[in-house]
Amino acid sequence: MSRKYEDFVASPDPITHRVRLISGNWKMNLNHLEAIALVQKLHHLMRPEDFRYAEISLHPPFTALRSLQLSFEADRMPFTLGAQDVSDEPSGAYTGEISASMLAKLGVGYVIVGHSERRRLFGETSELVARKALAVHQAGMRPIVCIGESAKERSDGDTEAVLAAQLTPVLESYPIDALGALVLAYEPIWAIGAGEAAAPEVVGEIARAIRALVEARVGSEIATSMRIQYGGSVTAGNSQALMTIEDIDGLLVGGASLDADSFALLVKSA
Ligand code: PEP
Repeated sequence: MSRKYEDFVASPDPITHRVRLISGNWKMNLNHLEAIALVQKLHHLMRPEDFRYAEISLHPPFTALRSLQLSFEADRMPFTLGAQDVSDEPSGAYTGEISASMLAKLGVGYVIVGHSERRRLFGETSELVARKALAVHQAGMRPIVCIGESAKERSDGDTEAVLAAQLTPVLESYPIDALGALVLAYEPIWAIGAGEAAAPEVVGEIARAIRALVEARVGSEIATSMRIQYGGSVTAGNSQALMTIEDIDGLLVGGASLDADSFALLVKSA
């Protein structure tokens, strides 16, 4: 079987006309040697049909980006390189930060911004997340903007208000002609790392509400082309049920993306 890149170009889903996006967020796991070993195994396990309607992005720690860029090129791996975070500043005296142009130079295609761990543990506000999304766009990449409510916000009945507040700064500052290509990841905080994903009915209802919110703010054309991922305890056992939800176009996967066998199975089942 040929393993050339040309075999792996994902087509839009015939019903939604959107290309699915399944992303592995490795968080602060795997050094660059472990990262290379994982992608080599994953590449070996995947078949062209697994990429038919889905693009696969892998988001290692910054320290493994260059190694994966070289592995993808050398072995013609059909994965898209992703980052987990970025600075909103273009350059300068920001010790420890990484700029969007540095990521673009490494061949990064997608950058996660506003993950709930960054909001909660590092105090990121929705305004900062919007500036990061804009920096990603200006460097020629696509942001995956994470939004999601806590268990308390959900039980208080505040889910939609919380999601709207997280989304509004992005919708107000991102160039309107590029908004349709932005990816949203709905990640209820209570489902992340919980061992149990949100029920498909709940995810479907919220994804519909998110698309309606985008439509109300910026119009139906953008709302229809924008992709919405679900994230939170996705496994090979639930990926299919989650991917059959009408408004869900992809998955953002944490724990299950750290093992090549489980991630390959998850993608194949989706
Ligand atoms: C995440 O943190 O983005 C995530 C979805 O994690 P997990 O799949 O481990 O719940």
